[in-house]
Amino acid sequence: MLLSGQSHAATESRLFLDGKELSLPEKVEIENLDGNVMIPIRVVVENLGFKVTWNQKSQSVKIEQRDKVVQLVVNDLMATVDGKQESLNAAPLLRKGSVVVPIRFVSEQMGMEVDWNNVDKVVSLITPVIEPTIKEPVKVPPTTGSGTSSPTTAPVVEPSVMLSQVNTIQFSENQLKISLSASVQPKISRLTGPDRIVLDLPNTMFSDSFRASQGLDNKLNGRLEVSGYPDVSGVRYSLFSSSPSTVRVVIDLNSAKKYTLLTETTDSTLITVQLREEDSVNIDPIVPNVPAVNDGRKKVVIDAGHGGSDPGATSISKKMEKDFTLAVALKVEQLLLQEPAIELIMTRNSDVYPTLQDRVDLANNMNADVFVSIHADSFSPTANGSQTFYYQRTNSKAFANVIHKYLIKATGFKDRGVTENGFFVIKKTKMPAVLLEVGFLSNSDNEALLFTEELQNKVAQGIVNGIKEYLGIK
Ligand SMILES: [Zn+2]
Repeated sequence: MLLSGQSHAATESRLFLDGKELSLPEKVEIENLDGNVMIPIRVVVENLGFKVTWNQKSQSVKIEQRDKVVQLVVNDLMATVDGKQESLNAAPLLRKGSVVVPIRFVSEQMGMEVDWNNVDKVVSLITPVIEPTIKEPVKVPPTTGSGTSSPTTAPVVEPSVMLSQVNTIQFSENQLKISLSASVQPKISRLTGPDRIVLDLPNTMFSDSFRASQGLDNKLNGRLEVSGYPDVSGVRYSLFSSSPSTVRVVIDLNSAKKYTLLTETTDSTLITVQLREEDSVNIDPIVPNVPAVNDGRKKVVIDAGHGGSDPGATSISKKMEKDFTLAVALKVEQLLLQEPAIELIMTRNSDVYPTLQDRVDLANNMNADVFVSIHADSFSPTANGSQTFYYQRTNSKAFANVIHKYLIKATGFKDRGVTENGFFVIKKTKMPAVLLEVGFLSNSDNEALLFTEELQNKVAQGIVNGIKEYLGIK
């Protein structure tokens, strides 16, 4: 008897709303009933400024939000939301005079992100991030790192406000990319349990073409399947609030990641969220560039991105990235086969899909001297140019600088620079490694050239020149 009383006190549950702890009604504990975490609803919605009415006779709770009325009945799986019936995962219960409801209902009907830490018995609720219409432009500093607090008040947006439209949402090469019809200031936060990154786009809705092409259910929820990126399990998006209209995009992660929010300086209608490593979490040691011990020949791995079941990005005229990358890789192969000082290793030379791990293992097991992964990017029609990526090993950056110089000369496209990024193949390989985004398949000028023999030959020669210069081969 004594023991049970003590253990109960030791795991006292706690409830947070936007980082602020709410005091639970006396003696009410947060329970986990068959996987449904039950929380007292009144304390939450009252803190949000909603009106709550308890009807003793019908054992029901009425919650009045700005534009929404929710009615819950104790022991009844069906709730009424704006006059429509909605089913709950678990029926509301009466606990010591307080109505408790499944946390999932709160997230779905009140639009909150919820966190449940089962070990510490902590529930965290985060209200939707809704910005009021700003009359004068306000400079907002770029967001980086984590931050979760958000306003709990409910500002009113003028009905005449022009909404920005989401045209595309993509995930590729460790980056979430969203293109919009008009610029918005996204609000971004990092959540745990499970790890995810949440992006709210205020005064935004889905365009008709997005609805048609990317698939939304009748509640305006959709999902992007992400394969080939082991850190990311998927991307979800929804029309998270209709007044004011807010699109929410969530990156579901398999492990915690930091992010950098990038908006193109010339075009703030493009939002890129680049995933980064947690600081201090298994940073790969800098591996010295050990000279090859074989016949003195340098081992070069050429990786044609994607392939087989993974087409990569699709160009505006419906050509596939995997075909572009293979065409360039085969041209590099022809040139490198004529180099007596180089031993060439291709990750693929036909339309097949080695996994990212296969490609990394091949390069590491061969003890390669350099690794070059060839890709083409896709985003909005206006994005264009050539970009070279490396991971934080210093030798990779030096290699990236050398090869990028030749890449931009070969393409003649806009110089998007040399950028650090934890793409799997350049992160997990141990030798100097680069990932080249040669140009944009979504840009009509870039695309037209990317599929010509002439440009592919120039790019292949540029890659070879960069490799030779870095390896000191005359
Ligand atoms: Zn690619």
